[in-house]
Amino acid sequence: MKTEKYKKLIHQRIIQTIEDWSNQDAVAEQDIHRFFHNLKGTSGTIGLAEVEKFSEAKELLFSEKSDKALQHSNWSEHVLPLADMFPPAEQRVGGSEFDACSLNQAHSFDENFRTQKRVLVIDDDVEFVTYVKEILEKHDYPVSIALTAERGLKIFYEWKPSLILLDFILPDQSGMYVLQHIVEKAKLEHIPIIMVSGNFSIENQVNAYRSGAMDFLAKPLEVELLTALIENRFAMKKDWDRSIIVDELTGAYNRKHFNRMMRQQMDDFKRSEHKFSLVILDLDYFKHVNDNHGHLKGDEVLQAFVSTAQDVVQSKGILCRYGGEEFALILPHMDSVQAAGLIEQLRHTFNAIKFPVKDAAFQVTFSSGIAQITGKTGQAEKLVDEADQALYCAKRAGRNQTVMYSAEMLERKNEMVLNLIVVDDDPLIRDILINRFFNWKPTNHAKVNALGFADGKSFLTSDWYNESAKYIILLDGSMPDLDGLEVLRRLRERYPEQQLLIIMLTARNNTEDIVHALQIGADDYVVKPFHMQELVLRIERLASRILND
Ligand code: GH3
Ligand code: MG
Ligand code: MG
Repeated sequence: MKTEKYKKLIHQRIIQTIEDWSNQDAVAEQDIHRFFHNLKGTSGTIGLAEVEKFSEAKELLFSEKSDKALQHSNWSEHVLPLADMFPPAEQRVGGSEFDACSLNQAHSFDENFRTQKRVLVIDDDVEFVTYVKEILEKHDYPVSIALTAERGLKIFYEWKPSLILLDFILPDQSGMYVLQHIVEKAKLEHIPIIMVSGNFSIENQVNAYRSGAMDFLAKPLEVELLTALIENRFAMKKDWDRSIIVDELTGAYNRKHFNRMMRQQMDDFKRSEHKFSLVILDLDYFKHVNDNHGHLKGDEVLQAFVSTAQDVVQSKGILCRYGGEEFALILPHMDSVQAAGLIEQLRHTFNAIKFPVKDAAFQVTFSSGIAQITGKTGQAEKLVDEADQALYCAKRAGRNQTVMYSAEMLERKNEMVLNLIVVDDDPLIRDILINRFFNWKPTNHAKVNALGFADGKSFLTSDWYNESAKYIILLDGSMPDLDGLEVLRRLRERYPEQQLLIIMLTARNNTEDIVHALQIGADDYVVKPFHMQELVLRIERLASRILND
């Protein structure tokens, strides 16, 4: 550490002080006390051991509280020896060198650094503060200096420092006065306050800690101790700052941060027209994960979802936990098409994850809705609402999909979903029917999803049911494990009759089963082998019946 400059500065100040005082009739005893007090701290810090020792002894001879003024003969013998404690070749420091470390200026540090690692030094000892400033700026911490309490308070409110070094004794007010004024706000904003004093009596330290100071450093300062402490406090501050915007369980940002980021993006858009997109993502049938595998497993799924999303999205977006199993992703600089590309990538990666349970495993899907900012969006809430509507459509359309918002969505919100479910152990029949009916639109206000199951058990234990949809269920009469009649009986027992139309697929020679099925509540039956054309006609007829109900 280059301390020569500060030694010169101190020497210069001593000579200047002697000159000034010699021109006065008398000097206030308090001023002499403070002169030695400050000199003690600074000289020790920059390695002037002799000056430090000398000042420490002299400080005690002059009272801090006295209102006496002393004649030249009463102070000169104590002060003059200081002038000789410096090497003879010393030159007075030129103005330009002092200007190089002039006070209070803003350096052109990285903006990020400016807002997060700014140090305010409130101390009336000019040599000390310029010295500390140089050390801290070497570590890229922007520094502001206040030589008085009043100026310190002003800079605190205007410059918004992220850490404060505060001297105990200041010319206008005490350091404790400053501390008491700023401590509440500093606590709220996680700003550590480090008291610095040459007088580190237990009483002073207790007072400082009781009043909310975080640390108490003794002058003279060890440079390494100062920088280590400041690094440590900034690391701590970073964790604090982070902890209030991050969701504990998953590590995604929380809703508070989401709201702030949305506001920021909206402002940005209004100013510069930087586009961005918002995605709302919701895990499908997550309740069943909890019901079937327990809440701990559910938590594990949420964590896996976030870590997968963070891997895929990386720094391109801001992922927030919006509510239980619902997430919001802000994608700056992306339109909804680019956003959809990214989300599809995430969907495939996440769907492929197998969560182990006992000797099996399960997979989880999610649905998402995307909305892009436009000149007409206006408020952040509107964009959230649009992404929500798109999500709703994704859910209604059968889940595990990504939907972009469009203006027609309001209309489609009222669209009826008809699910066609084929439960048959013959894969060929499932395939033909599902392909035939997938995305069929029986009316303008209805849409059909088709899905298949190979046996009754996997059907009944799946998450097929949603109370806002209607169903046509094709049930094969003879299946392994659970036969069609049994499945039919359970469906009629458990679900509202008007929501489910059930068609039995039976073998020709089994009239008894047909009668039985109709008694239990089948709406129709088809005898195998059937003509596909005939079956399609029946389904269409039943569809118009159930949709007009
Ligand atoms: P949908 O496909 O319609 O979204 O169905 P869903 O079951 O996912 O949605 P629903 O909103 O009915 O249920 C969400 C469930 O998420 C209910 C709640 O118990 C669960 N959940 C919310 N937060 C947590 C959490 O932190 N941990 C766990 N394990 N479950 C949670
Ligand atoms: Mg869900
Ligand atoms: Mg939900």
